[in-house]
Amino acid sequence: MSELIFIGTGSAIESLNRFHSSFLIKNKNYNLLVDAGDCTSKALLSQQINYFSIDGILFTHFHPDHFSGLCGLIVQMEILKREKPLEIITHNKLIPFIKDNLHLSYIYEKRLAFKINYIGFEYEESFNICENLTVISKNNTHLNAYKIYGEEFNNYFSSSSFIFTTTDNKLLYTGDIGSEKDLYLFSGEKINYMITEITHVSTEEIINAAKKFIPEKLYLTHISDSDKLKINTIIKENTKISIPTFEAIEGLKFNL
Ligand SMILES: [Zn+2]
Ligand SMILES: [Zn+2]
Repeated sequence: MSELIFIGTGSAIESLNRFHSSFLIKNKNYNLLVDAGDCTSKALLSQQINYFSIDGILFTHFHPDHFSGLCGLIVQMEILKREKPLEIITHNKLIPFIKDNLHLSYIYEKRLAFKINYIGFEYEESFNICENLTVISKNNTHLNAYKIYGEEFNNYFSSSSFIFTTTDNKLLYTGDIGSEKDLYLFSGEKINYMITEITHVSTEEIINAAKKFIPEKLYLTHISDSDKLKINTIIKENTKISIPTFEAIEGLKFNL
């Protein structure tokens, strides 16, 4: 049995009520952090999650609210003298960017007491994170609006939506998306659970996607302080069609 714990459920907008994007999938022998937004080390601390228990960190994309907690987290691991290797997992073309980012933050692998192993994936190629957790990603349109700013940046344009498959269940995680169309990247899949961001898609679009996928549970995340009405409307409408829908909050857990 795996378990998912929400670590940060906020949007890119700073809030005193939420941390930025991150959740933890706990498996028997491997704990995977998905995204590490600003201050993820503090968010983990507030959930009393030991940094050393994290075996790998998977990134959806590199907006700061999903990525910029990485260096701070690695520094915490270094100070506390972690020895266990850490895996960093993202799309193949983004790995050089992560390495540069660590070096620019004076994090040199030769100086660390633990090894960082980089694992790159390609879209639509399923890969194993550990014995009972498989992941497949698809490229979504979240970053398309940046393409006009120059080809030299094109290598950094990768934003993934994922399906996580455990021994018992399938979870669709939208990641940050660009439009309603991205909600249906995995439309042929029968999923058990769905986590959707709510910033870049409308109330109606989320309700329609719930009707299409009919997940056993739907979790709403990437939440701003002003999203109360949106969340309440989605929960109310989905109750009418018997799709249990939950507002993600820090520390909320479910079996996966
Ligand atoms: Zn975001
Ligand atoms: Zn984003």
